[in-house]
Amino acid sequence: TDNPILSAHRQIEDQDAALRPKSLTEFVGQAAARDNLRVFIESARSRGEAMDHVLFFGPPGLGKTTLAQIVAKELGVGFRATSGPVIAKAGDLAALLTNLEPHDVLFIDEIHRLNPVVEEVLYPAMEDRALDLIIGEGPSARSVRIDLPPFTLVGATTRQGLLTTPLRDRFGIPVRLNFYTVPELESVVTRGARLLGMGIDSGGAQEIARRARGTPRVAGRLLRRVRDFAHVGGSDLVTARIADEALTRLEVDSLGLDAMDRRYLMMIADIYKGGPVGVETLAAGLAEPRDTVEEVVEPYLIQLGLVARTARGRMLNDRGWKHLGLTPPMPDQT
Ligand code: ADP
Repeated sequence: TDNPILSAHRQIEDQDAALRPKSLTEFVGQAAARDNLRVFIESARSRGEAMDHVLFFGPPGLGKTTLAQIVAKELGVGFRATSGPVIAKAGDLAALLTNLEPHDVLFIDEIHRLNPVVEEVLYPAMEDRALDLIIGEGPSARSVRIDLPPFTLVGATTRQGLLTTPLRDRFGIPVRLNFYTVPELESVVTRGARLLGMGIDSGGAQEIARRARGTPRVAGRLLRRVRDFAHVGGSDLVTARIADEALTRLEVDSLGLDAMDRRYLMMIADIYKGGPVGVETLAAGLAEPRDTVEEVVEPYLIQLGLVARTARGRMLNDRGWKHLGLTPPMPDQT
């Protein structure tokens, strides 16, 4: 497609495409989400109707885009993808919606970043399958309602809390995606190695899985990097030792934390004596956007119990101190 509103999204995703599962059966993990989706897909198919709107939420790289594509494929309908920040005007969204075929899936990534004027267009579209357009200007302006084909909106967001209530309420099927377990990621790695045509033993797969931050996208990225190291080192079988060496050189530590994760932890430990410290302050110190800190860095560190999010700010937990090899300062004697 040469529609910029549709294609901007595609380019970012291309490097992931090779490893993307194509069916619910191939999709590893997220068993509860998968089981539910299977029921809704089956039911929509047998009734010959568009499936209800779905919202996928959870940290980046857990499979939201992949699942959206799978839903369309298993429904046997067309798939169109765009993303919240790309849709600048209400008219852009209206054009997308009026061009859908009946029962199509329209995927909007980063749906929490829709411009409010554009979001207003979505409400009647989702609820009544209609567009309310204003024709003309001034006193002669009038509103006309255009019917849309039945369609399924699939939204994805890393920040469910940033969705407005009216938008959130219009999704009949909210689906939370969680970090993957090590055995699940091991399957992701083994499958990826097979698709990439590389040799890996179970120790190698487990080592990469343990250090993939609970995230299939990271597992895929580490797998490619480890392959490069193995290749240059003249080996065609990735073992635990080769994976460990490569990951250590990539500065991925034993828990799978990368350089940014450690800078974040060190900043709380070193400069703020373990916290509490506000996320704005941390983001400024790391020279990263606050969104990146909250959406990419923090969720996994919190999941591991290294850091806590409190009302007064972020605090390093005992586990966090321990992982850094530091001892917490004595409490103030004041
Ligand atoms: P998100 O949209 O949540 O950021 P994606 O759907 O783009 O994540 O997934 C990122 C990559 O991770 C995909 O290219 C795919 O290869 C891989 N991936 C995600 N989920 C799975 C899964 N359950 N099984 C295997 N690979 C997966």
